[in-house]
This record gives sequence, C-alpha cells and structure tokens, in this order.
Amino acid sequence: MELRPNGLYCAPGDFYIDPWEPVERAVITHAHPDRAHPGSRAYLTARAGESLLRAVVGPEALVEAAEYGHSLKLGGAAVSLHPAGHIPGSAQVRVEYDGEVWVVSGDYKLEPDPTCAPFEPVRCHTFLTEATYGLPIFRWPPPAETMASTHAWWRANQEAGKNSLLYANPVGKMQRIVAMLDRSIGPVEQVTGLPAPERQAGDLPRLVLAPPSLHNTPWSRQFAPASTALAAGWMRIRGTRRRRALDRGFVLSDHADWPSLLRAIDATGAETVGVTHGFRGPLVRWLEEHGRRAVAVDARFESDL
Ligand SMILES: [Zn+2]
Repeated sequence: MELRPNGLYCAPGDFYIDPWEPVERAVITHAHPDRAHPGSRAYLTARAGESLLRAVVGPEALVEAAEYGHSLKLGGAAVSLHPAGHIPGSAQVRVEYDGEVWVVSGDYKLEPDPTCAPFEPVRCHTFLTEATYGLPIFRWPPPAETMASTHAWWRANQEAGKNSLLYANPVGKMQRIVAMLDRSIGPVEQVTGLPAPERQAGDLPRLVLAPPSLHNTPWSRQFAPASTALAAGWMRIRGTRRRRALDRGFVLSDHADWPSLLRAIDATGAETVGVTHGFRGPLVRWLEEHGRRAVAVDARFESDL
C-alpha cells in the first residue's frame, strides 16, 4: 500500500481505497463525502453500502458489490470487505498479498448501531485507522443514555408547544437516531436534502431531524418557536454548544472514542499502525509509547460530524 497523489494505492491489486481523485478502480469503505467521489471508472463496495454509494456516484457508474467476508481476486491481491460499524454498508478493506495482510478500516465505531453490522476485528500485519476522536478526553456515554436525554428534551418541548430541531449528519447518523426514537412522543419529520415545504400556522409541534448546515438559516427559523440541538461526538467538548448557539448538545458519534480506538487496534494484532486523520499525533505517540510501530499517514480524509 502506498500514498499517491490520487489516494491510497495498492500496486499488486492495481486499485485505490477511497481515492480523492477519479481513478480506474476504487474500493470504497463508505459513502461519506470525504470517501466516495464520482468519476472513477469502476467501484467496489459492500453490498449493504451499494445504494448509498449509488446516490453519490450516479446510476450510470460501474459499481460492483460484494458480501461481507467474500474474498475477491484483484490482480495479485486477495481483497475482502468486513463490517466497520460506522454507517450503513461501511466496510474495512482487507488486502492480502504475498503473505502480508493489510486492513484499511475507513471510519469505524464499536458502539451498537441498529442500522449497520457491528465492527468486526480482523487480524492483520498493518492496520490503518482513523483518529477523529484520538484524545483520551473522548469517551462516549452508552447510546441508550444519550437517547434518554434526547427523548426527555423532545418530550419537554412537545409539552411546551415547541418544535424540536435536532441536527445530525444526514448520511448515517440521522438514520441511526430515527431507528432509536420513541415514536410515541410526537410526530417526526426527516429532512435530508432539500428543505421541507413552508410551515403552516397551527402545525403540531414535532421533532425535525435536519443536516447541521441548516442551523440558523431562514429555513430553520420558520419552525419557531423551537428548541435546537446537535447530535455529535464534538458535543463532548465544553463550549461547543454555546459557540454554535444551540440549546442542547447530545453526545452521539459514529466514530470510535479513545478507548474504542485502542481496543480495536489491539484486536487486530497489527505490528504497524498507520493513522490517517483526526488527532493523529496523540494516537501515534500513545501507540509508540506502548511498544507498537505507528506512523501518521497524510491522507485527505476529514473528521466529519
Ligand atoms: Zn465517515
């Protein structure tokens, strides 16, 4: 595996993993915008991620879908995809060539998520990990606890006759929240792309799930009176809620927290760990201090919400 201007390249298999420029053959870990781009000649994705990838690359693109765990020959390399637990259809890419095993994990989490298959530890010699939340301060409460706080906030708003505007990443996070909602509290509206039609006077108060980019816009103001909240790992940082002028913040992330990063890395048994994005320095240092070979990899992935 090597870093080229277009992305992470596997020479024996002649393919890229999550390339940031169009290439001949792209293996895609998941359909977030920093990973999946239109324009490549051919794509390989996990079957469970096919529809999300199609939404990004278009109906005409050449997309091959593989079941989790199914081994394919790409050139001289054996390639298989394994659940990453990040968003629906997310995959780690296992590449074996000449007795060497690499795993490129993309983004991942270990917490339960009803919308995707759980993270599967895969033994390897070299493991590529993200470090979006690669600092010891990041520790997630159990998702059930976060949902209990979310429900209490929503219920109080319903009783006060206010709408509840809950902002969340529209690819993955929003579906995860919807799957965990207690629908008995009130009506739910989900806005993933284009804003919903104009509000009518006298509409019942409701929970509206929307992308964070719609916060504090003319669109969001039509829901007044409303209480606003964001569901993200960043809400773990003191002051984030106030800086973003939100009424509430709920800690819910689709990325591994610090203990989960260490646990996932340990489970691979990898001799070498490449850290691709996020808090790379602190994680690389921690791994080195604990006897593992670790390197920062200069990939163009982003630490999304
Ligand atoms: Zn992602």
